[in-house]
Order: sequence, then structure tokens, then C-alpha cells
Amino acid sequence: MNTPTRHETTPPFAVKKWQTYVPCSTLHWQPAKPFVVMRVVGDKVEVYDPTGGHRMGGRRWVALRNLHETDRTKAGKQRKTGWRLHCERLLSKHQELCGTCMNWLDPQHFGVLAWGFGHNTCTSCRAEIEARYGKLPTRR
Ligand SMILES: [Zn+2]
Repeated sequence: MNTPTRHETTPPFAVKKWQTYVPCSTLHWQPAKPFVVMRVVGDKVEVYDPTGGHRMGGRRWVALRNLHETDRTKAGKQRKTGWRLHCERLLSKHQELCGTCMNWLDPQHFGVLAWGFGHNTCTSCRAEIEARYGKLPTRR
């Protein structure tokens, strides 16, 4: 552990609206996908998956206990299930979500902003996609 003092300077971990989570394990057989936290109700969390459902994404519920601060257990072991915190939104900066890297970024990092949240692609993801699959059509 290189950062033993971290928890003395940062607030305790809490699941909050707009945080994005990614699966702890990235094994291909695992069906888990990234999502955005919409609200916490008791021991359940309503989440939004921009790529789930039909075109516009879908909402579903996951158990609060499956959301973790890191992909490691307290003993330092790699978690095989559940999700880990990926990115928090800075509300003061009117950040937008990139549905590809699941990062909240300032608006200038997006070439084109799509309708519906979670459907934007930041400029660096867009460049990566274009390098791999060729130029994307310009959205109207
Ligand atoms: Zn991105």
C-alpha cells in the first residue's frame, strides 16, 4: 500500500448521484456493464446504463453492497464481482458524461453533444474510435 494516509484526508466513501461505476472484473464472460448512479434508496441503488435498453439507455436496480470504492478488498485482493467507483461529477463545471469512457468531462472536451445524457462521446474517445474503425459520420 503506497497511500496509507489517504483516508485521513478524504471523506469516507459514499455512493452518490452521478458517480459512474465500472465492473471490478473485466473478464469477458461477466455481463456486468458500467452505469451512472441516479439515486440511493435504502440498501438499493437505481442506476442508469447509457448502453442498456433500447437506444436511449435503461434504468435498473443494484444492491448497494455491490458498489465499492476500489476494485481491491481491504486485504488487497482483486474483487471478482460488483462495481468500483470510476468518476465523480463536478457539478460546478456543468460537466457532461462520455458514454464511452464513462468520465464526466468539461463541455469543451466534447466535439458534438448528443441529445439524451450518456450518449455523448468525448473528443479523445472519438479519436480512438476513428483510429480503429475509420471516420465517424458527422451527427446532424
Ligand atoms: Zn470518452
